[in-house]
Amino acid sequence: MPIRTLPALLVNQIAAGEVIERPASVVKELVENSLDAGATRVDVAVEQGGNQLIRVSDNGHGIPGDELPLAVTPHATSKLATVQQLAGIATLGFRGEALASIAAVSRLRLVSRATIDGRTAEEGRVLEASGDQISAAAPAASAAGTVVEVRDLFFNTPARRKYRRSAATEFGHISDVMGRIAIAWPRASITLSHNGRTALELVADDSPRRRFLNLIGADLDDAMIEFEQIQGDVRVWGLAAVPSMSRSTGKFQYVTVNRRPVRDRNLAHAVREAFRGLMPPDRHPLCLLMLELAGEGVDVNVHPTKAEVRFAEPGRIHAMVLNTIRKRLLGADLTPTAALRPTSTGAGDLADMDRPSTADAAPAARDAGWRGSGAATGTYADPPRQTDRGPRGFDYDQMRRVMAEQPEGVAEPGPTEPALHSHVVASSGVLQIHKCYLVTQDEQGILIVDQHALHERVMFEQLRDRLRRSDLESQRLLMPSPLKTDAKRLAALESLRPLLKRIGIDAEPSGPAILAIHAFPSFLFERNVDPAQFVEELLDKAEDGQFDTDGEHAEEAALHSILDMMACKAAVKAGDDLKPQELCELLSQRDRIERSSACPHGRPTTIRLTLQDLEKQFGRR
Ligand code: ADP
Ligand code: MG
Repeated sequence: MPIRTLPALLVNQIAAGEVIERPASVVKELVENSLDAGATRVDVAVEQGGNQLIRVSDNGHGIPGDELPLAVTPHATSKLATVQQLAGIATLGFRGEALASIAAVSRLRLVSRATIDGRTAEEGRVLEASGDQISAAAPAASAAGTVVEVRDLFFNTPARRKYRRSAATEFGHISDVMGRIAIAWPRASITLSHNGRTALELVADDSPRRRFLNLIGADLDDAMIEFEQIQGDVRVWGLAAVPSMSRSTGKFQYVTVNRRPVRDRNLAHAVREAFRGLMPPDRHPLCLLMLELAGEGVDVNVHPTKAEVRFAEPGRIHAMVLNTIRKRLLGADLTPTAALRPTSTGAGDLADMDRPSTADAAPAARDAGWRGSGAATGTYADPPRQTDRGPRGFDYDQMRRVMAEQPEGVAEPGPTEPALHSHVVASSGVLQIHKCYLVTQDEQGILIVDQHALHERVMFEQLRDRLRRSDLESQRLLMPSPLKTDAKRLAALESLRPLLKRIGIDAEPSGPAILAIHAFPSFLFERNVDPAQFVEELLDKAEDGQFDTDGEHAEEAALHSILDMMACKAAVKAGDDLKPQELCELLSQRDRIERSSACPHGRPTTIRLTLQDLEKQFGRR
């Protein structure tokens, strides 16, 4: 085929391919235009997941009648005139491509009644555009503002049409897009309906916090930790849910940069880092992060749908986000509360304290999961709670069986003969139960502590602290401890050597198949950890790729894992009897160390039953 210039329609359809991927992309572009036009109210109605109809109405400044044809012309925009203005662009749009692209692949109808210098035009104008056809603008009855209707999306692009998903799936995407925009623009009233049913109804709100909670669930209010920091011309503000409200996917992180919802791996990483050690590695924080920075600090022209941005100083922003969130988390009381809820047996239910994984379990179309505010959000109502985790209510049958086994006369034990003697040690307000849990109180209620988990955290923080002060003593072994080895283990040893040196382990090959351990941290030695066993486990894990030391933050992560292992080995186990003063010592550490609410793996060390809940359960209130 000879080279030839493509017809304009084809050019537009190709361009549309980049920007308009699915109905949700149309919704995004149209709503962004409304917000750019200063709208304080945006109503979105879609039919059949937007495949059939998308209508976006706003009360913005509108488009003057004589400019209507330009609005649907490619590379025509009112938002940008020079390349200088591109740096620090304050509007969401600037390419002048969206309406033209949409018109190229659908039947578009544009009605607008403009307001210029406070004066609203006498009447509106309407224009229709589809493929490469544009009608003349004609007078039309309309309120001040703009209404864009998009019908039969992809009717003339069979390839795209083929990839259309079900109305439910497409609507799921639309709902997600709308939620993310709504979070970034709390001052706009926003509604969304699907096939005539309201899915989202958000009133204008001055408070980004309230808007966010309206969307993700007002019951999370108490779980949200607010953070803020201003440094030069950068402002970081946001809400982080306590670790016990973590999610099983990273989807529940909402990031906006200068009021633009974006995805950003660098920022996502900073958030995760801030939560490191406070939640299990397979969990993800629920978080809202809003960044504001001067225009030169960020380039928004790096992605066709502007879903990504590029920071001039990514390292500085990363550090700022990480430090701001981490500082607030370390200062907060993150002890999860066990929710006591009435069950059919009347027994309390402790199972509900952690992991609201119910939202995660929802099908794809419901992923957005916005709860709206008082709207008819049928499909978005709280899904039924899962009932397959954690301990259930008190087992009365078990208790009856135990009672039946008691010989006569012992069923009501005297004070010197507690029935559960072997399992309970009471000591100055601390009980050790089943050699596993410590029970005590604080001003808010009853605390239940996992002795191993808490001790592990205590050991971990001590280790970290000593490492930081270069005070991690190492002990030379009189008799080097031998360990069988092979080529793989030797390779693992080589890769770990710098880290081993930092923690005071000196291991050298001695002969072809033997490793000799010459020095070992006193800390572990004192707690009866066997050097050969420890190093063997360490090398096995290294061989297994668990301490990958490549990558930007990998060395710290690997060190964290090794300290973690040391802490775990050194900590008391479930089943260890603790002397009264050991119990007290351990509990007193709880208030002194950082991140005491979670063990280094991120599991909780402590659960609180609040007095309020107990009062409710016992019918005192
Ligand atoms: P861009 O947003 O990049 O400028 P678009 O194709 O999305 O490009 O829109 C083209 C132009 O049409 C905009 O620059 C704006 O002037 C006008 N426009 C589009 N939608 C609206 C609206 N809802 N209200 C007012 N003006 C609008
Ligand atoms: Mg636009």
